Amino acid sequence: RARWRRAVALLREFEEGCATPPARLRQVVDAMVVEMHAGLASDGGSKLKMLLTFVDALPTGNEEGIYYAIDLGGTNFRALRVEVGAGSVVTSREVELPIPEELTKGTIEELFNFVAVALKDFVEREDGKDEQKALGFTFSFPVRQTSVSSGSLIRWTKGFSIENAVGKDVAQCLNESLAGSGLNVRVTALVNDTVGTLALGHYHDEDTVAAVIIGAGTNACYIERSDAIIKCQGLLTNSGGMVVNMEWGNFWSSHLPRTPYDISLDDETQNRNDQVALSVEYLLQYLYPWLGFEKMISGIYLGEIARLVLHRMALESDVFGDAADNLSTPFTLSTPLLAAIREDDSPDLSEVRRILQEHLKIPDTPLKTRRLVVKVCDIVTRRAARLAAAGIVGILKKLGRDGSGVASSGRMRGQPRRTVVAIEGGLYQGYPVFREYLDEALVEIMGEEVARTVALRVTEDGSGVGAALLAAVHSSNR
Ligand code: ADP
Ligand code: MG
Repeated sequence: RARWRRAVALLREFEEGCATPPARLRQVVDAMVVEMHAGLASDGGSKLKMLLTFVDALPTGNEEGIYYAIDLGGTNFRALRVEVGAGSVVTSREVELPIPEELTKGTIEELFNFVAVALKDFVEREDGKDEQKALGFTFSFPVRQTSVSSGSLIRWTKGFSIENAVGKDVAQCLNESLAGSGLNVRVTALVNDTVGTLALGHYHDEDTVAAVIIGAGTNACYIERSDAIIKCQGLLTNSGGMVVNMEWGNFWSSHLPRTPYDISLDDETQNRNDQVALSVEYLLQYLYPWLGFEKMISGIYLGEIARLVLHRMALESDVFGDAADNLSTPFTLSTPLLAAIREDDSPDLSEVRRILQEHLKIPDTPLKTRRLVVKVCDIVTRRAARLAAAGIVGILKKLGRDGSGVASSGRMRGQPRRTVVAIEGGLYQGYPVFREYLDEALVEIMGEEVARTVALRVTEDGSGVGAALLAAVHSSNR
């Protein structure tokens, strides 16, 4: 009995450590705003990089034509053909190819020649040889942009290491490979996946001012006034605004609720040992940098945080019998499994039993132990969703759209201004409880009246279709 009490005490401690009452979330909101200002003031002024994108015009729904997009930065390389017109946008065709391992370590010419050949094949099959087409290039690595269609690679992530590409203009390199292959297609927009998501959201709804991705990783971008981008004095844009890529996975604040398990996770990912499961999550975390906000929110990590808690419970109590060893391997509990545990609504938690048995090799758990496991997964989920909500309100507050400023409250008395945030990502889209917690926190932070003016809208394939739309906007402009 005493040992059961120990498990319950660990649960209580964890719950308290993860607590996110509204007052605390508001502190996170304010810290986010402070960091946004600092990141806009100078390069390196904040953990938030606040990268300039040079995207100063977003699709409006009036674009027309056929555009291509490629998405590079995951395990697979994708190419899309997108038909735009009469307010509708459809992906008419798509190909997906794995990138041969050796190409991620060779030269940039080898990689981009592979891309060019694949694209040439695709384009010639769809539109014939001579058609001139604009290309949106989603390149999900850190890039210092110099225009909407050019930018130099800061460094590789996700296991790529092509030395001769660092510091080079990746759009220009790709254009050279495309020209070399005889293909009449040029990059007119070089973007990050969040920017593509914002573009697609804006295409459907012009009140869209920001985009958030909550998938394996997490990031956000939004439309900033050019004159607020202090680090780039005299920045002139046609619209008076520019999309800023926050790279918010890096965000850190002492107000974030941090537990001993988060510290263990840091240690684990820094001293990567060999005794881990070769799961997708493990491979992804190995390839991603170690980030603060991202580690509490995104899909790579949530399951692992829960596993760390369960492992400690197994060591210090007898709730899992003698299965403690089976819980000791990092990354054996994926975030989709954590979601399935939390969403098991069967009276005897039979899905939880199955997952514990099949995935964690813990047989025959009594119902009350299964309830404990559900609770742990709930706490991890709730904290993640509520912190993501605070991040979103941080952006709204920076934009004066969270209902807290004088100007906006004055406005509230008249016609309330509608704000739309485009959102995408496997975690957000695949996990309804996460969405509920996020919505609930938005209301708690901003109040019901203001929260009603804010809509989160899911887009489909912003990193593909959105990039094609940006190619459209920025090719007709020239
Ligand atoms: P990326 O950030 O690489 O674009 P995705 O948007 O494709 O990633 O999201 C994939 C991630 O979403 C996975 O790593 C997984 O952790 C999470 N995920 C996918 N499906 C679910 C689900 N049903 N429940 C919870 N998390 C999920
Ligand atoms: Mg993605």
